[in-house]
Amino acid sequence: MQREVNGVTVEVVQGDISDQEDVVAVVNAANARLQTGGGVAGAIHRAAGPGLAEECRPLAPISPGEAVITGAHGLPNDHVIHTLGPVYGQDRPEEELLARCYRNSLALAEENVVASVAFPAISTGVFGYPLEDAAEVALRVVLDETQKLEGVRLVRFVLFSDRDAEVFEGKLSELAEGRG
Ligand code: ADP
Repeated sequence: MQREVNGVTVEVVQGDISDQEDVVAVVNAANARLQTGGGVAGAIHRAAGPGLAEECRPLAPISPGEAVITGAHGLPNDHVIHTLGPVYGQDRPEEELLARCYRNSLALAEENVVASVAFPAISTGVFGYPLEDAAEVALRVVLDETQKLEGVRLVRFVLFSDRDAEVFEGKLSELAEGRG
């Protein structure tokens, strides 16, 4: 599902973040150490190979809401943007910290002349952020940011399950209404 807002295509798909070969940058739901782990970080580091962890080492640790950019190594993209989401119920204010993840990731994409970015649903795995609330924050921030984006022309949300994709689709159609 897609919506065009301020000249930017915002879309929601079901899929694997490590298998998005038609976007310039993919976003990693990273840990503070920027090393491999479960979920998104595991999939990205597995597909990228050990060079990614090596490039990440001097950039770590990062704090919730922060983002850093690296090469993509074995992934079919040009860059990986690593951002640390808030742990729900622990890193506060969680809504602002989650919003910063998306804002800072998009700012890095702009600085690096990246035309297309794919995000996973940051913080909604082991970090425990309820999916609907996370979808609301993610989509609101991205739709707001479309007003300022100059180089980024596609923002894709990649959800691992059909059910999660449906939640994001519902939110996108609700929030994009009237913004076209
Ligand atoms: P966090 O630590 O920020 O919560 P996780 O990686 O644990 O990050 O999970 C974030 C979200 O990404 C969860 O909704 C999870 O189901 C989903 N996810 C896990 N693996 C993948 C993948 N390979 N591609 C896309 N999404 C994934």
